[in-house]
Amino acid sequence: VSISVARETAAGEKRVAMVPKVAKKLTKLDVDLLIAKGAGDASRIPDDAFEDDVNFSDDSSELFGRDIVLAVNAPSTDDIAKMKQGSVLVSFVQGHNNPDVVEALKKQQVTCFAMELIPRITRAQSMDALSSQAAAAGYKAALMAANALERFLPMLTTAAGTIRPAKVLVIGAGVAGLQAIATAGRLGAKVYGYDVRTDTKEQVESLGAEFLVAEGVKAEGDGGYARELTAEEKQKQQDMLAKSMADADAVITTAAVPGKPAPKIVSKAMVEGMKPGAVLIDLGASGGGNCELTKPDETVSHGAVTIHGPSNVPALLAEHASEMYAQNLLNFIQLFVVEEDGQDEAKPDEKTYKIDFNWDDEILAKSVLTRDGELVNESVKKALE
Ligand code: NAD
Repeated sequence: VSISVARETAAGEKRVAMVPKVAKKLTKLDVDLLIAKGAGDASRIPDDAFEDDVNFSDDSSELFGRDIVLAVNAPSTDDIAKMKQGSVLVSFVQGHNNPDVVEALKKQQVTCFAMELIPRITRAQSMDALSSQAAAAGYKAALMAANALERFLPMLTTAAGTIRPAKVLVIGAGVAGLQAIATAGRLGAKVYGYDVRTDTKEQVESLGAEFLVAEGVKAEGDGGYARELTAEEKQKQQDMLAKSMADADAVITTAAVPGKPAPKIVSKAMVEGMKPGAVLIDLGASGGGNCELTKPDETVSHGAVTIHGPSNVPALLAEHASEMYAQNLLNFIQLFVVEEDGQDEAKPDEKTYKIDFNWDDEILAKSVLTRDGELVNESVKKALE
């Protein structure tokens, strides 16, 4: 099986879809691995960190002409046009926002698996790149808050007096939010967590944080995700959060609803109620922001409050985010890069592999976006209609 790893071209993208540790495991599966020259440079993984059986190329026709192409973000439509009919692409795609990419994949009859569509079931945990990248984002968001504040996070008892711990409020307690809570807590802040899914209460509390409740707002949706709030629920939530925000030094927002723009939770008035010097880190920035004042990839000063809207936080932790992502990819492709039949179990080094899709496997069936020239994911299809 021939596999290539694309160079990432999106602005600010420093991650790469392959690291030496994972490449080593991949080549054991009899894979012929070709990586775009210098693809790992931005995440500090030079080409010579890979073993000798990995090859490098600058020729995009060669790179995109492989059986399987791996990437972090979907390649350009020009590069997709260089893919072989029936070959496989595995990357984040965000098809609902990228109709041109979906068209190119259909035209080229590429079997494309979108990493964001992998179901959040137990068996798929090791392939769940949404989670691995969200964990990186949550961790970094807490550090960004600590760095932006002109205060300590922990309580300090010194000869120069006692410093009270900073208060950090994390809105949205999914994977990213929980990691932000854990990180701010480790730095000694007094942490508060909030989510519309009330079953996150236990998880927030197990990290030593206080769970905030907006009476009458309970918005569990399908598949463990949240649903959108009604106008009345939104008002109740804002009334409660405005009070906590007025008392917080840092607010980190991570709220998301699948397939929808980021819910607008923090209004201008709520920012105006915050303390001078307070900071807001909006991880919802790439989805339009959880705060109505957020501007993606900008730091906005509103009165004495600053609002940070980083749109690709995992890329700021490129080395480890790439490592986790590459391992997610390896675990995933092993669902369809499988041993040929009738091989000698006593000679594992001589085994040969083939690409074979079991469409009865829920993970493959739910994550496939295009195949045989068709867009096959129903929710993306609906979004593009
Ligand atoms: P996400 O990125 O979709 O959303 C982040 C958080 O924002 C969620 O907790 C959501 O409830 C919350 N939210 C949405 N609207 C909100 C609002 N108006 N106000 C406040 N909070 C709001 O979520 P995620 O981190 O991807 O996790 C989603 C679910 O998937 C969770 O239940 C998580 O435990 C589950 N999960 C399961 C697995 C697994 O079993 N394999 C793996 C990862 C995540």
